[in-house]
Amino acid sequence: TDSLISSLRREAIEAPISGIVDVFNYGRHREGLIPLWVGEGDLPTPSFIAEAAVASLAAGETFYTYQRGLPELREAIARYIGRIYGRPVSPERFFVTSGGMHALQTAFRMVSGAGDEVIVPTPAWPNFVAGVGISGARPVEVPMTFTDKGWLLDIDRIAAAITPATKALVINTPSNPTSWMATAEDIAAVLALARRHGLWIIADEIYGRFVYDAPAPAPSFRDVIDDEDRIVFVQTMSKNWAMTGWRVGWLEANPRLGQTIENLIQYSSSGTAAFMQRAAIAALDQGEAFFAEQFERAKIGRAIVSQGLSATNRVRFAPAQGAFYLFFSVDGVEDSARFAKVLVDEAAVGLAPGTTFGAGGEAFFRLCFARKSADLEEATRRLATALMRLA
Ligand code: PLP
Repeated sequence: TDSLISSLRREAIEAPISGIVDVFNYGRHREGLIPLWVGEGDLPTPSFIAEAAVASLAAGETFYTYQRGLPELREAIARYIGRIYGRPVSPERFFVTSGGMHALQTAFRMVSGAGDEVIVPTPAWPNFVAGVGISGARPVEVPMTFTDKGWLLDIDRIAAAITPATKALVINTPSNPTSWMATAEDIAAVLALARRHGLWIIADEIYGRFVYDAPAPAPSFRDVIDDEDRIVFVQTMSKNWAMTGWRVGWLEANPRLGQTIENLIQYSSSGTAAFMQRAAIAALDQGEAFFAEQFERAKIGRAIVSQGLSATNRVRFAPAQGAFYLFFSVDGVEDSARFAKVLVDEAAVGLAPGTTFGAGGEAFFRLCFARKSADLEEATRRLATALMRLA
């Protein structure tokens, strides 16, 4: 054992390596590989967004800035959320973070720590479970139920997982990786449960505008909460405006938590760079046409991969209701981590193995369809051929 490592905090040592990174490292140099394993589209950030950052730098915005975010950005977020959800909202509710992950870690640290438990319905984005672990609390995975019609949130199973140590529930709708979308009934049931047990809800609705076969935005906790509810929302600029590398997001909460959140930001990132916040303002205020283009691309991508993979009778999935992932199982395959590497070798397609998304996802694969049609057509052709050939 390495004494340098073993002297570290247990939670840091035990933070797991992402199963996506593992297959990525295995396959990144495979020639001609079509990479559908990461959760991002293939379009670059639109130039009007980048130009707003450049203009800010040219204007000298290179100093320390507000811990809660530029007032102009908090106002732009409030305008944006008000417009999308059809109800006015105060800028005082918003706290700018260095990406969605920083918003999540801030939320975890605010509501839980050593000795606490946080419930995460799975399959789930692995950063929820790992992020709770880093905060010192214990993540409790509660598997959802897979049916050919869709994934189901079993509220009784969640209720059964609640103990005196439970502090919070993480609800991600629409979901990465399953593309499940909570119904209004699911939202009401979760809120009732949280109220009954005094739990916090950490609501991750970042894919709320990527909705298929139903009106957008997806049903939201904001439709039903009141001022006393224990809820924080996390959000990110990453997906809607192709800004994954920018690291700008926000946390939304009751303004009464303002000083606490400001302190947590002060002692983690000390605020998000002002020039990146100017880019976020441009995206929120002028980014509708680009978002529409992203969404159209995902809609077409969804049709291509759903049709292409339905043609192989070994593949099973529920239609993607939201987000931009197809989460499918392959008959006869139990170890998706191993098989994802086989598919790198045999099909030159990069998929995220379901093992990385926690309980219930082991036999599945996640494919990101927010990409150009030609790649998705070729990838599904290759997958279909390989699945016919491989046992
Ligand atoms: N929440 C979900 C469900 C995600 O899929 C992601 C990114 O993949 C995030 C939050 C965080 O996004 P970011 O840290 O890139 O802003």
